[in-house]
Amino acid sequence: MRREVPLRRSLLVRLLAVSVLVSIGSIAATAWLTARSTTVAIRQEQGRALADDARVYDTLLGYAATHHGWDDAGDLVRRLAADTGRRITLTTEQRTPLLDSDAEPRAAALPSRPSAVVDPLSADATQGHIDPRAVGPYRLTRKERDDLRATAQRRALCLRRTFGVYAQVTESPNGRPALTTGGAQPYPETRCPSPVLEQPTTTERRALAALEKLTGSCLKRKGEPAVRINPDFTWTREPAPVAPGAPRTTASAGGTVSTCLAAARREQLGPYVAPPALLFISSRGGGVSTGFDLSPANQARIAGVAALVLLFTVTATVIAGTRLSRPLRELTEAVRRTEQGGAPRVEVKGRDEIAHLAAAFNAMAERREQLEHLRKAMVSDVAHELRTPLSTIRGWLEATEDGVVAPDRELISSLLEEALLLQHIIDDLQDLAMAEAGELRLRREPVEVADLLAQVATAHRAGAEQAGVTLRTRADGDLRAFADPVRLRQAAGNLVSNAVRHTPRGGAVTLHARRDGHHLLVDVADTGTGIAPDDLALVFERFWRVEKSRNRRTGGSGLGLPIARKLVEAHGGTLTATSTPGRGSIFTIRLPAGVCGEEQG
Ligand code: ADP
Repeated sequence: MRREVPLRRSLLVRLLAVSVLVSIGSIAATAWLTARSTTVAIRQEQGRALADDARVYDTLLGYAATHHGWDDAGDLVRRLAADTGRRITLTTEQRTPLLDSDAEPRAAALPSRPSAVVDPLSADATQGHIDPRAVGPYRLTRKERDDLRATAQRRALCLRRTFGVYAQVTESPNGRPALTTGGAQPYPETRCPSPVLEQPTTTERRALAALEKLTGSCLKRKGEPAVRINPDFTWTREPAPVAPGAPRTTASAGGTVSTCLAAARREQLGPYVAPPALLFISSRGGGVSTGFDLSPANQARIAGVAALVLLFTVTATVIAGTRLSRPLRELTEAVRRTEQGGAPRVEVKGRDEIAHLAAAFNAMAERREQLEHLRKAMVSDVAHELRTPLSTIRGWLEATEDGVVAPDRELISSLLEEALLLQHIIDDLQDLAMAEAGELRLRREPVEVADLLAQVATAHRAGAEQAGVTLRTRADGDLRAFADPVRLRQAAGNLVSNAVRHTPRGGAVTLHARRDGHHLLVDVADTGTGIAPDDLALVFERFWRVEKSRNRRTGGSGLGLPIARKLVEAHGGTLTATSTPGRGSIFTIRLPAGVCGEEQG
């Protein structure tokens, strides 16, 4: 009967399921971790790129504010590109290339939208903001600058001496010096006066006048009165209609003036700055800056790698699972054959757990075979042992029935003797079976060893006298044991019975109890035939006899010694024998300390 494992319970399928689950889990975890760390890295990278881009834009805006054109900006663009590791391209508003940090400009490779428009007169697309570095006609002459600087320094010195205020002389883009006190407490203007510093210079006045004119003509076109422009490019009405000096700020009129002023400023500065240019900042090699995008190509790549990992996992698991399940199947098959009465062995390959299991199975099969062999031998021994007395009884009874032999007293006693022998063998077999099954119950109690030896001697005295053998007992000191007296008597009795049977007339059998350290020893010594060294090792085997024939004097069951040994072993002791052929044998019962507890206590 072959019981197949259902597929879903199969070791291979379960291994496969576990490994597929594990690999899907690890792929997902790896993808998640990678996506997270990549996103963080990209954010950092993008932050850095943005800061770089802002720097590039600001530097180029500064250049445009202070130069008439882009002709000499090549070096600056290349230097910025080298610093930021980016490709920088400038084109006109019509996308005609002006400058490119790459050696071979490839206009076609430019992104569709520019990164920014570099226009110093419209630096802020919504507000029309003019870059402060675009100073044009407002730039001071060298003399004006030196004079103002000297004045500023004098004033700084005065402030330091008078108020202990440390003022620094800085320079605005058009060369006008200014004093900054780094947030120090205000100081009275009157103590260190320097009105020159607040007054516009001739150059500035001239430029402001030109600006006023340009603004004025714009306002005139729109039907608005002219205004006065201040050095900080604020304006005032002239003459003041509400309060002298206060700007009139009605929404509509203010808006028109501001528009005209801004247009005038752009018109005034136009010739001094570079024309507006489109700025393209891209990654080296022309591509747009990188980002973490799950494009179809990337998705396909991830799916492909995941499929490869899964394929590898499945292949590896199938190989490993097959290697695991094949020997297990062989073992199962072998166990089934054992069940059916066979004695198969399995091949032991390698040194892993399954190899150990296979080796253990083989050892078990071997042991089982030995036991089976023993069982068969015992059954045949028992049959053989029982057959002899039974055939004797049957032979005599048949002869009596046929009238060949008269049923006299002698015949009856002979039949009784055979029946007793049968009984004896059966009793012995039962004792041995119980001892071997570990079912021998000991009823332990304090035992006087000398008394026990005397009882054994008494039981065998009649037989000994009949055989012409002297039976003696001897006990060294007051020896006591804690043992089962019945079983101990039975063991010693078997030894005495053997000794008497194997001692010729005139010989002696001695029972001698003594102490050896914590052990209690009982020797049963005889002056009999002795046992040959080869036979000595076998006398404790069941049904083993030196004399194979059974006669009245020496015939036994061949179970006496194995039973005696089992009884002694049940007490935790040992039974051993020494012998000299022709001179006699000594059988020694050695009982351990625990058995002698009474004596020690
Ligand atoms: P049996 O019932 O035949 O005596 P045992 O198991 O008691 O069976 O003994 C096994 C064999 O050991 C005996 O047949 C005998 O040959 C041998 N034997 C046992 N005791 C002695 C002894 N004291 N002297 C010589 N031979 C002995």
